[in-house]
Amino acid sequence: MKAAVLTGLRKMEIVDVPKPSIKEGGDVLLKIAVVGVCGSDVHYYRNGRIGSQIVQYPYLIGHECSATVEAVGKKVKTVKPGDEVAVEPAVSCHKCPQCKMGRENTCYELKFLGTPGSPTTDFGDRPPTTTFEGREDNGCLCEYIVMPEECCLATKSRISLEEAALCEPFAIGVYTVRQSRLTKSTKAAILGSGPIGLSCLVAAKIQGSVAIYMTDKLDYRVDFAKKTGATWAGNPDRVDIVASILKREPLGVDVAYECAGQQQTIDQAVELLRPGGFLMLVGIPEVERVNFAIDHIRRKEITIINVRRQNRCAEDAIELIAKGKAKIDSFVTHRFNLEQSKDAFDLVADYRDGVIKAMIEL
Ligand SMILES: [Zn+2]
Ligand SMILES: [Zn+2]
Repeated sequence: MKAAVLTGLRKMEIVDVPKPSIKEGGDVLLKIAVVGVCGSDVHYYRNGRIGSQIVQYPYLIGHECSATVEAVGKKVKTVKPGDEVAVEPAVSCHKCPQCKMGRENTCYELKFLGTPGSPTTDFGDRPPTTTFEGREDNGCLCEYIVMPEECCLATKSRISLEEAALCEPFAIGVYTVRQSRLTKSTKAAILGSGPIGLSCLVAAKIQGSVAIYMTDKLDYRVDFAKKTGATWAGNPDRVDIVASILKREPLGVDVAYECAGQQQTIDQAVELLRPGGFLMLVGIPEVERVNFAIDHIRRKEITIINVRRQNRCAEDAIELIAKGKAKIDSFVTHRFNLEQSKDAFDLVADYRDGVIKAMIEL
């Protein structure tokens, strides 16, 4: 089968690799339909790493995908050949102390599609499939993968295969909003209007948040945030976004979603929050350390909540899309085929041509 693999920094090649096969009774062989290019994929493409998770080349990347079931193992009950599925890229052990307390997203034995393992931490991210050179950390930017049954969420064709591939990033927005304890009276700021910031916006609007202020350094994303329903959106390079938002919300916002992974946005979030507010850290910083204005966060008694992907929100994401409550297909601005994978990654890495979300169709 064909696979798009990273071969170096900003290098990607289409190669032939062995097609995976069903080994366990609970395995499902999936024919990949659509793969989303994620900001985290682009971190690996551009930098070869995210923190302690370092790519070993050649590397089969990709974790946001939808697929059609090709074949199932003997014990599989919930899906059958021909079914369309949204793929949950995380495989947790269901046995460790984290799983037992309902924290599958920080499972000590977690495996995650297309994510290099972390040699310097003793938990998390031992990737799952064995499709390429016997490696266990492969992704889904290829024709077929094998996943356990529990990761194959049948959509019953209620949503498109493209929407199914968007469920993974959208689920992060659903989870983030849930963790922030947002209510109908919540006033929120979302700093960073990429696909994850926009997913938080859509999820927050479903919960009925009364005011949502958004920012981005790219003008086209500011416009997109407005079109998607932000109460106000601005570019920090053009306006003083803290002053502009505080003019509208003199008491500060209840929740700030930091979705850019920048020191500047963390500082803005702290300034925007009211005392007792929640700072949600969602973005992935490219640096090893960030800092907080301790005088501000201490005196305001800010609660800082980190978001590690999502936990048990993928099915909710499918449901919200299927019921028409979440319209996220407008996020897709560009479509490519497998051979054009490098073009898709370059486009996203360089924020070219008004890109919000690029999808690769197989
Ligand atoms: Zn992703
Ligand atoms: Zn576990």
